[in-house]
Amino acid sequence: MICLGIEGTAHSIGIGIVKDTKGKCNVLSNIIKIYRPEHGGIHPREAANHHATHVADLIKESIEAAGVDFTDINLISFSQGPGLGPCLRTAATAARALSLSLNKPIMGVNHCVAHLEIGRGTIDDCKDPVLLYTSGANTQVIAFAEGKYRVFGETLDIGIGNCLDKFGRAVGMDFPSGPKIEKLAEKGKQYLELPYSIKGMDIAFSGLLTASEQYYQKGKRLEDICYSMQETTFAALTEVTERAMAHTEKDEVLLGGGVASNKRLRDMVQTMAEERGARFFVPSKDLCIDNGAMIAWLGLLMYNSGIRMKVEESLIDQRFRTDMVDVSWRD
Ligand code: AMP
Ligand code: MG
Repeated sequence: MICLGIEGTAHSIGIGIVKDTKGKCNVLSNIIKIYRPEHGGIHPREAANHHATHVADLIKESIEAAGVDFTDINLISFSQGPGLGPCLRTAATAARALSLSLNKPIMGVNHCVAHLEIGRGTIDDCKDPVLLYTSGANTQVIAFAEGKYRVFGETLDIGIGNCLDKFGRAVGMDFPSGPKIEKLAEKGKQYLELPYSIKGMDIAFSGLLTASEQYYQKGKRLEDICYSMQETTFAALTEVTERAMAHTEKDEVLLGGGVASNKRLRDMVQTMAEERGARFFVPSKDLCIDNGAMIAWLGLLMYNSGIRMKVEESLIDQRFRTDMVDVSWRD
């Protein structure tokens, strides 16, 4: 079975084509185009216009790259939520048009669950992980328990990526700032005290963001601020992930989302995993960031487990939560 997936929750429009090979995910193509605002953050309508402009060409490109024909596609899936309304609507509209014109079934999928399933689908030993999902807008610690992917901890205010990007914007960096902060942090020499706020299993970043901006206004070295932001936020994320692993008694940890590209975050989580005797996994970079292949793979899993969706049922849901999905494709 071959599925074409369309991802469009935020700044990226991605088309991925995947094939089910003995229960594992075989990625045939995965093309991603990222909207980069000239200044400021993501404007939802402008991001949606960007996606609408490119989606048709990307679909053709993706078909060519996969070496398949439109008639080989058995299913169309798309990111139903959570995300920015105008972006979600654009991806959904493209999926509906494709589904109707090819006369193939459609499947809307949860974006956060897709980040977890692509790890299980493409990494051999990754079977039942705790996912630390760190992206621009989302920050969640997710694991499977009693028929659902439960959120064991999450941000109470802004996503970790947004926290880094907002700081970057305040000090004059381009979007996305995460990679630039990572580079500067390598030259950090002094740790500056920042609020470390964990409430139960949840995390808050906005106090730390304000404090970091204040350090900058007071003339502290940018490298030291970046270093301190990474050390503090990543330690909090690692702590919550470790507690979720202890609570669920799982011995695998998986990273996902754009911030998972960060070496310091990887190192911290890997060290934690090793100290617990657990295994640590990160998908390849193009499967970590927002991408169509993960949407295609989850659509395929859902379809194969017997789930069906009519075009009339394919409405988007900006607040589609991870734990709203009945995970019928797992025991
Ligand atoms: P996503 O929303 O999953 O597409 O991820 C985008 C987010 O990842 C943005 O907020 C980026 O700043 C962030 N990001 C990308 N690369 C890095 C990195 N090397 N270190 C920290 N954050 C990063
Ligand atoms: Mg994402």
